[in-house]
Amino acid sequence: MTDLQTADVSTWTTEHILELERGKQIPLYAKRDIALVRGEGSYLFDADGRRYLDAMSNYGVAPLGHAHPRFTAAIVDQLGLLTTGHQSFGNDVRAALLDELSRIAPEGLSRSFLSNSGAEAVEAALKFAQVATGRKKIVAARRGYHGRSLGALSATADKKYRDPFEPLPIPSIHVGFNDPEVVAAAIDDETAAVILEPVQGEGGIHVADDGYLVAVREVTRRRGVLLIVDEIQSGFRTGAPFASVAAGIVPDIILTAKALANGFPIGLTLVTEEISGSVPAGAHGSTFGGNPLATRAALETLRIFRDDRLHDNAAALGTQIMERIEALNSPAIRAVRGKGLMIGIELKQKATPVLRGLQERGVLALPAGNLVIRFLPPMIWGQAQADELLIAVEDVLSGNR
Ligand SMILES: *Cc1c(COP(=O)(O)O)cnc(C)c1O
Repeated sequence: MTDLQTADVSTWTTEHILELERGKQIPLYAKRDIALVRGEGSYLFDADGRRYLDAMSNYGVAPLGHAHPRFTAAIVDQLGLLTTGHQSFGNDVRAALLDELSRIAPEGLSRSFLSNSGAEAVEAALKFAQVATGRKKIVAARRGYHGRSLGALSATADKKYRDPFEPLPIPSIHVGFNDPEVVAAAIDDETAAVILEPVQGEGGIHVADDGYLVAVREVTRRRGVLLIVDEIQSGFRTGAPFASVAAGIVPDIILTAKALANGFPIGLTLVTEEISGSVPAGAHGSTFGGNPLATRAALETLRIFRDDRLHDNAAALGTQIMERIEALNSPAIRAVRGKGLMIGIELKQKATPVLRGLQERGVLALPAGNLVIRFLPPMIWGQAQADELLIAVEDVLSGNR
């Protein structure tokens, strides 16, 4: 890097960086004790030059890993053309992304709303569901996570996030996951929508049974209630663009965000023609949404997924990793769950010390609740990275120091 400012901060130590952040940020995050300053493919580097295997891709947002040459070249090209552009004007890149999305969206979900984050994709879906049905209430799942802005928080289950902000703006009821009967029983005349994750991410990597999704689709259709599937975390990494569609259903609304633009902030709310037709002009909007830089990032990401067959890679590698973790037969493990490269190991002990052990062995992973270790690796991982992960997991679970 030649830039003066970059040269300056590049001399900062981990200690200095963390001290600055801790002293100046609102302390919302339990910070880990390393500062990441650079990435290359499936690896991250901290301020002290230490290398880590990236098994989390920053909460699943970097499916192409870091500094991916083709992705980087596209963004750099777009920086020299046009970065910002309101949706009241047309734009070639946005149009191309919408066209590309129609190739991966299931038949019937032909209309898009573009925003800048997962929570924004949820907010839009809830507003669209309310105006389309003329009803207010939602049914969501226990352990479900849909974001922390006030509308999205109404759908999120965890009391620790909800309690300080009750009453929340959208009346909601949370029912057990993977049980279609309790969903049916919770629907009433005021229900606008059911919202679910096909693989619960923050809640501990719980995979919806295909039969559950099919049954919920059936009951929502029969009762005239919309089905919103939140694929903000599961999108693109479970072996298909959308886990719900791969399970054989077509929701009324699909949401995605995290992996869609390889770390560039974006949110997508995909809806049917019918829902789109019932949303009045001006009922929602976003200044940054659909900007040329974000849409270029998403467009290139989707093209690389396709050209490099990364969905197939995620499916095959994910299955292999889960089988090999199972085969460790570790007494520390209660269950291994997941789909594609969205993997959870439920432990019989707290996850934090194991995560710390992995970090000491040069592997960065995430928790999902107190007991679950979560892997959301880049989809460009190959056999070498899977082997590296397994060696570290086996070592840390066997209690070696
Ligand atoms: C991360 C996540 C969200 C919220 O996305 P943000 O970009 O953090 O607002 C919503 N739903 C699911 C399933 C998520 O994993």
